[in-house]
Amino acid sequence: MSRVAIVTGGTRGIGRAISEALKAEGLTVVANYAGNDEKARVFTGETGIPAYKWDVGDHQACVDGCARVASEVGPIDVLVNNAGITRDATLLKMSFEDWYDVMRINLGGCFNMAKGCFAGMKERGWGRIVNIGSINGQAGQYGQVNYAAAKSGIHGFTKALAQEGARFGITVNAIAPGYIDTDMVAAVPENVLEKIVARIPVGRLGHAEEIARGVTFLCSEHAGFVTGSTLSINGGQHMY
Ligand code: NDP
Repeated sequence: MSRVAIVTGGTRGIGRAISEALKAEGLTVVANYAGNDEKARVFTGETGIPAYKWDVGDHQACVDGCARVASEVGPIDVLVNNAGITRDATLLKMSFEDWYDVMRINLGGCFNMAKGCFAGMKERGWGRIVNIGSINGQAGQYGQVNYAAAKSGIHGFTKALAQEGARFGITVNAIAPGYIDTDMVAAVPENVLEKIVARIPVGRLGHAEEIARGVTFLCSEHAGFVTGSTLSINGGQHMY
């Protein structure tokens, strides 16, 4: 029987590329999403991958959602914590809600989903967790104290959980993407984007598939000795 993978925010952008890449590797994949039903419907129609809707920032929804996937599809062996949002503003203009929502979804989502999957992985003696961080969690970014703090937190979360999972065959790693050509980056004003691309040594934005390749490696059987690490995929923009 093939392993079961869940990709949060797996219906669009980087998450969609990850869902498709894991399926191409022979895994049984389930994608989670938050609210864009139309994108999810098209995604399922085009890929055959079922989409489950819940907010990863809602603890109980994650625990219940993981249990539902386990009973309808099979026990979850691979968790990719990819769902994320931005609510950019400089500190003085940032509302508490903008701070809290980003922490709740981007960082809290990793905790909530791990709570839904970790016990089963431990019981079966095998698991892969990949958390999608960000270059901006490593280097910081003007106007993103919420996002940078949450993404930086993901890197600490990864290293701590890796220590808990190691002796049960569970690896926990992070990927820190640079700027990737998805809807999230399309929201950045063009003049700002030009300046960003000028700072990328490779000279272009990354593609979602390039992040997905890293995820499939970390989720593979071959990566059993890789845990607690962060793989930067950023065109050389930040050498950490
Ligand atoms: P997109 O905005 O293109 O897609 C986000 C996905 O996450 C969607 O499927 C969305 O669902 C889902 N999502 C958002 N909020 C929630 C929630 N509360 N619960 C469940 N699902 C949710 O993002 P990207 O593909 O660009 O980014 C994916 C990840 O990569 C994020 O964590 C992001 O921070 C990170 N990243 C992205 C970079 C980039 O340059 N694009 C750079 C570095 C990191 P729905 O469709 O329903 O809204």
